[in-house]
Amino acid sequence: MTDSRLLQPAQWHGENWQQLAKRLQDDLLPHALLFRGQTGVGKRDFAVAFAQYVLCQSPVDRHSCGQCRSCQLNMAGTHPDFLLIEPEERGKQIKVDQVRKMIEFTEKTPQQGGFRAVVLCPAESMNISSANALLKCLEEPGRDTLLMLVSQQVSGLLPTIRSRCQQVLFSRPDYAQALDWLSSRISNSEQADTLLQLAAGEPMTALRYDQEDFLEQRDTMKSSLAGLTRGKVTPAEVALDWLSFDITVVLEWLSLWLQEMVRYRATEDPECLMTQDMAKMFRYVADRAGEKRLLEYYAWLLEQRSLTLSQVNLSRQLLLETVMNRWLALTV
Ligand SMILES: [Zn+2]
Repeated sequence: MTDSRLLQPAQWHGENWQQLAKRLQDDLLPHALLFRGQTGVGKRDFAVAFAQYVLCQSPVDRHSCGQCRSCQLNMAGTHPDFLLIEPEERGKQIKVDQVRKMIEFTEKTPQQGGFRAVVLCPAESMNISSANALLKCLEEPGRDTLLMLVSQQVSGLLPTIRSRCQQVLFSRPDYAQALDWLSSRISNSEQADTLLQLAAGEPMTALRYDQEDFLEQRDTMKSSLAGLTRGKVTPAEVALDWLSFDITVVLEWLSLWLQEMVRYRATEDPECLMTQDMAKMFRYVADRAGEKRLLEYYAWLLEQRSLTLSQVNLSRQLLLETVMNRWLALTV
C-alpha cells in the first residue's frame, strides 16, 4: 500500500518538520523514529511526507521538489525505496509476514542510491510475533535506512521497541486551525463544522468521516434508535444492523448526543437539543432517564471508546448489544 501523491505536513506540525529536516541536513537523524500523539492529527501523513522528502533528490526549502525522479516515483506510488506498512484492513493487526517483507526490504541496496524509508502505522497494531520480528530489524537496521513508527498508544508497544526509537511528540491543532484545514478539503464545506465536532476536533478523522459517508450512517443510526425506543426492534437486531459501522464512530455519535441530553436535563432548556431531527426522541429519553443516569451512560460510552482503540480482538456485536441495552435502560 502506498500513497500515490506527494504529501505535505499539516501546518500545525511545522516545528516538528523543521527540526527533523535540520537533523537530516546535519546527518544527525537516528535510524528509527517513533511518532507519537493522539489519533487524527496527521502523524501518518507527516511520516509519509517525511519519507518522500528524505528520498527527494533535490529538495527545495526543506520540502520535496515534486520534479525529480524520486518525487515522480512517489507521486506514482511506485518508489522502490519506500515502504508503507499498515494493517490490511483498518482495525486489524499488522501481520508478521508484513514485517518480514519490511526486513527483506531493508536488507536490499537502495535502488535510487539514497535512503530507504519505511513507515509503519499504527505500530500498536503489531501482534507479538510482528513486534519481535521488528525488534531484530531495529537492532541491526540496514545502512541508510529510516524507520518511522507511528503510534497513538505507545503503551501498547514493547518497551524494547520504544527504547530503540527516538520519540517525537505530535500535538493537535486548535479548533479554528483544524476547521480551516478541513473546510478546504471536503466536498461540502458547510458540513465541516459538524464533522469536526463529531470527530472531537481531530481533523484527519473528520476528513475520513466525510470520505466514508458518515452522515448517511447517522441517518441509519437515528432510525434504529427511534425504533428501539418505541420497542419496534430489539437491541440484538440493531447491533446486527450496525455491525458494518466503525464502532469508534458509533460511540462518538452517541457520546455527542448524550452530551446534548445531559445539557438539556441540567438546564431544562430544549434549545440544548441541537440535533433537531432527533430532539423529540432525545427529550423523551432524557426526561425519563434523569441527569444522573444520563451522565453514567455518557461516562460509560467514553470509557468504551478508549477501550476500543486498544482492543484488537473485540466482539463488536456484543459491545453494540450492550450499548443498545443501556440505551433502553434509560427509558425504564
Ligand atoms: Zn524531488
